[in-house]
Amino acid sequence: MADLARRFWLRRDSAPQAPRLPWMIDDQAFTDQCTRCQACLNACETQIIVQGDGGFPQVDFQRGECTFCYQCAQACPEPLFRPQQELPWQVSIAISSACLAKQGVDCRTCGDACEPLAIRFALQPGKVAQPVVNDADCTGCGACLSVCPTQAIQIQSVTQVE
Ligand code: SF4
Ligand code: SF4
Ligand code: SF4
Repeated sequence: MADLARRFWLRRDSAPQAPRLPWMIDDQAFTDQCTRCQACLNACETQIIVQGDGGFPQVDFQRGECTFCYQCAQACPEPLFRPQQELPWQVSIAISSACLAKQGVDCRTCGDACEPLAIRFALQPGKVAQPVVNDADCTGCGACLSVCPTQAIQIQSVTQVE
């Protein structure tokens, strides 16, 4: 998945939002056609899909990570998901000032949880090691969110730039 992500240069949207579901078609078309049947919620192997605003499905990374199993897309009876061969989403993570490392407390929990090693820790004079995110390696799995002790990490949609 990281190889797929590396094929794209990513930048943040001016008004970034968390992605709703992986491989989802555009948000307007999705909410027009989704019947809120909850088939995707029941199919998700990590149980991270919840009913969001208006009862529409939404990934909640505080519940766990996306394994990119594609079962949500396969369970959906409507044509609301793109082919599995395509990139599931274009996302980036943001780390807020609530991060312990930014407050001088040594913490590398997010880096330990990140399988593609998208979060590295940079040594800086007079500071504890600071998290640095490599957007090109981040798959948007969300594994770093729920393990962060201060909920300092957010996932944002970004715009693809070829
Ligand atoms: S791809 Fe799998 S783990 Fe990710 S949201 Fe869909 S069902 Fe859940
Ligand atoms: S897990 Fe959270 S508090 Fe710890 S370094 Fe990562 S962002 Fe900071
Ligand atoms: S969402 Fe977090 S854990 Fe997953 S690849 Fe990106 S930085 Fe790593």
